[in-house]
Amino acid sequence: MNIKNKLQTYQDIFGTDNWNAHFSSGFNSRVFGSTLVQTVPGYYGGHRQEGWWLADEMIRKGQIYCTEPFPHNGCHGLAFTYGGTWACNQCNRDHIEKPWWNIKVFKDGGQFCVVGEGFTDLQESDNFAFGSTKEEALTAYFAKMA
Ligand SMILES: [Zn+2]
Repeated sequence: MNIKNKLQTYQDIFGTDNWNAHFSSGFNSRVFGSTLVQTVPGYYGGHRQEGWWLADEMIRKGQIYCTEPFPHNGCHGLAFTYGGTWACNQCNRDHIEKPWWNIKVFKDGGQFCVVGEGFTDLQESDNFAFGSTKEEALTAYFAKMA
């Protein structure tokens, strides 16, 4: 595996040996922030779903980055990916994503830590936040970065 401190696709991490289009597509959908239902609408099973689950597991373990659709411009509508960008039907906007939406969440001692892309350490970086739960860490990160 080739893990870096930025958002990476299946191919970035695992290369193209044993590459499966459906599996890597499902994996990348999770990395880019799509839910399981958005990734495999109306159909469960198969390589696409397995790829989604592998990425979800690596994200939950704090191993890789993913895109987290945070609230945008004061709107709490549910944003979704559309044509390579993020859109929202509640405020009718697109291209609402921010570079700091790409995050990694991991446990650090008894706390959860959220870091943005390019994070190196607590001394040199300022794109991080802590919380006693994952949700608290995400809220603190949002308050700091938005
Ligand atoms: Zn909106």
